[in-house]
Amino acid sequence: MKILVTGGAGFIGSAVVRHIINHTQDTVCVVDCLTYAGNLESLASVEKSPRYSFSRTDITDAVGISALFREFKPDVVMHLAAESHVDRSIDGPAAFIQTNVIGTFTLLEAARQHYSILDDKQKAGFRFHHISTDEVFGDLHDNEGLFNEESAYAPSSPYSASKAGSDHLARAWNRTYGLPVIITNCSNNYGPYHFPEKLIPLVILNALAGKPLPVYGNGEQVRDWLYVEDHARALYKVATEGKAGETYCIGGHNERRNIDVVKTVCSILDSIIVNKPANIKSFADLITFVEDRPGHDLRYAIDASKIERELGWVPQETFESGIEKTIKWYLANERWWQRVLDGSYAGERLGLNK
Ligand code: NAD
Repeated sequence: MKILVTGGAGFIGSAVVRHIINHTQDTVCVVDCLTYAGNLESLASVEKSPRYSFSRTDITDAVGISALFREFKPDVVMHLAAESHVDRSIDGPAAFIQTNVIGTFTLLEAARQHYSILDDKQKAGFRFHHISTDEVFGDLHDNEGLFNEESAYAPSSPYSASKAGSDHLARAWNRTYGLPVIITNCSNNYGPYHFPEKLIPLVILNALAGKPLPVYGNGEQVRDWLYVEDHARALYKVATEGKAGETYCIGGHNERRNIDVVKTVCSILDSIIVNKPANIKSFADLITFVEDRPGHDLRYAIDASKIERELGWVPQETFESGIEKTIKWYLANERWWQRVLDGSYAGERLGLNK
């Protein structure tokens, strides 16, 4: 199969690409415009594969995207390209509307054109897999159960609203034009190659540097955490075995309060790092509560029983095993994150290092 992966240089996209190259015989074309979140060094382990190619294209560029569909002729599209950081969406929502809404529209139109000229056999196999988040459902309050495929949309932030908009477009292109769309909504991911603006890598790297570990509000917000490689396996299963027109919720059965996540990272680091920064006895001494994010969702939690039942996917990592792997990965891959922190991973393209 030929799989077009948008956003393949990002955190989850690169895990999907590494999974496809390392565990299947499929061919991948990564489409990514390399924003600050795109890092080709996350794909270094697979870039020499003859089944891998890369195109630096913006998904809002209709001409460039159509040309890619004509040249690569994908059997499957896995659409992960997005602006993905809630705090950035509060500071500057325009890029979120542009990429997440207009970009998804542009891809859907190119896919519709491509699909229209496929023969019946190719049409039967074609899938447009739109990758989304559980944040489109808004938040849950303590005893309100879990999100599932029937949950109503109630996004809170510019990020989740733009993702909700893109989900609606994808669903409409299925219903109106018959494009074989599948949507997945997943909970919070963590793991290797995560950009250090997100909670878990931020806490690991700040702790190693002896810097404060910022926790929003009282840290009571609950997230359901999924190890990124479990998500990548789920996404490949959905893209290749899922039923067109369906939605699948993906989650890790790992609900944790943010403060407990931070304390867990601290206690694992305490057990591994002998020489702590001079100012502390335990890494937990660095925890610092900061003003809460506006509109901060209280709790997300996912009922992933449909994908388990229908596609036989279950996560392989518990939170405890996944977080330990993640911390060990950051300790063993200092070069990757140092180059992110000092900007050299992006070099001239982001105007860094000047
Ligand atoms: P990320 O920010 O790490 O990566 C996004 C990638 O998209 C980057 O490589 C970036 O360069 C690329 N990109 C951005 N704008 C683009 C554009 N206009 N054209 C082409 N490429 C562009 O994001 P992520 O955490 O890997 O998330 C991937 C997808 O999964 C997103 O759609 C996100 O909404 C969804 N998701 C993320 C999580 C999570 O916990 N991170 C959870 C559920 C769903």
